[in-house]
Amino acid sequence: MKKNIDDVFGFIEKNRDIYLDWLYEACRIPSVSAQNTGIEEMAGHLGNFFKERLGTEAEIIPTAGYPFVAAELPGDSKKTILMYNHYDVQPVDPIDEWESDPFEPALRGNRLFGRGVADNKGSMFARLCAAHAWKQVRGSLPLSLKFFYEGEEEIGSLNLDSVPKLYPSKISCDAMLWEGGSKDVDGPLHVALGVKGLVYFELKLRTASQDQHSSQAGIIPSAAWRMVRALSTIKDENDNILIDGFYDDIREISEEDKFFLNNMTFPEEEAKKFAGIKEFIGGRTGYDLKECLLYKPTANIAGFTSGYGGPGGKTVLPASAVVKMDIRLVPDMTGDRVHRLLKSHLEKHGFGDIEVEILSSKPPYRTNPDDPFVRTVIDCAGEVYGMYPAVYRNVSGTTGMYDFCTAIGAPAVLVGVSNEDSRLHAPNENIFVEDYILGIKMVAAVMAEFAG
Ligand SMILES: [Zn+2]
Repeated sequence: MKKNIDDVFGFIEKNRDIYLDWLYEACRIPSVSAQNTGIEEMAGHLGNFFKERLGTEAEIIPTAGYPFVAAELPGDSKKTILMYNHYDVQPVDPIDEWESDPFEPALRGNRLFGRGVADNKGSMFARLCAAHAWKQVRGSLPLSLKFFYEGEEEIGSLNLDSVPKLYPSKISCDAMLWEGGSKDVDGPLHVALGVKGLVYFELKLRTASQDQHSSQAGIIPSAAWRMVRALSTIKDENDNILIDGFYDDIREISEEDKFFLNNMTFPEEEAKKFAGIKEFIGGRTGYDLKECLLYKPTANIAGFTSGYGGPGGKTVLPASAVVKMDIRLVPDMTGDRVHRLLKSHLEKHGFGDIEVEILSSKPPYRTNPDDPFVRTVIDCAGEVYGMYPAVYRNVSGTTGMYDFCTAIGAPAVLVGVSNEDSRLHAPNENIFVEDYILGIKMVAAVMAEFAG
């Protein structure tokens, strides 16, 4: 780092308990978008936070769904960084598997447990605290900051694509820190430069007017069996996706893409341990494994509902079956084309009676790795974490980066405070306390360096 900001770092250290308290406050609000709880409260809490602790009025912007929260803090240089985050969290079920109340953050050892600490209130408040520390120590920020928050990320960012058209001035910037981002548990921070896309389908099938007594199974068709047969045409035993034309649009993996994979660490043993598996699909390892994780599309059955799934037994013949399926997209695949291909695949295999509806769709996105902002973030990560980061060309997950980045034309990088054992979306979500403090310093450092 060229700039000395030891005074800001010192202030962050001195105020670590306060900064942790601010995260606790936010995590006590159960802002579960899927269940419409705590949303208004959380948006209001953020509005108050900006006013009382950062001295600016945030705007709470209504949408057809849950409100956006937007705020700005002017700074000394002409440059602006936009912080995109979401204030909603995932539902807590299965609640019995939590070791403490998901909405009462709890310290155990060096970890902080609670819904949202990792995804993504931890990163959100690390950024807010970095701004606070700068203002307190230096009186002003080295560059301008914009904050744009949505409350619908966990249900598919239903209104985010309207933002560049409706509120261009609230997101115009020179660079973005996107939500997400992770870290090896005992290894480097991840600096990620993009995301996969995602198309989410619901497949619906009805084979009779209503469920039947299962004694009729010899003569009346079962929706469950029919759906199983249809699904089994989509993927083979070696995990190849069999939809005709599915792989045709995929951009060839470039030498540069390979360079990123080759230089990126991936803690295989840890990842297997966290997932509780003996080996990855096909026994993959090394480059092959990383390529499958980051550069190849997926076809995942997210849920299958048919017949009876409650306690004990019920002899029933299901008349309907519903499957939720998500397909992760890589450049240059599109959700619409995959939708068309999947429909014609099912028709071709005699399953034209299965309805295929798109529930949501987001294209993949990658930032230009040669952008100077990327270099700044990588350098800061090396300094703050004392270790060169793992640079991901894209992560395996999906967010609404595409709409913002293509409209603004600015680079976006994902960095955050969670780690590979943070259990996002699962029981006992957690972060290391130290990663939260380092995350605040990281944002403070990026502000200093990018200001120039
Ligand atoms: Zn999430």
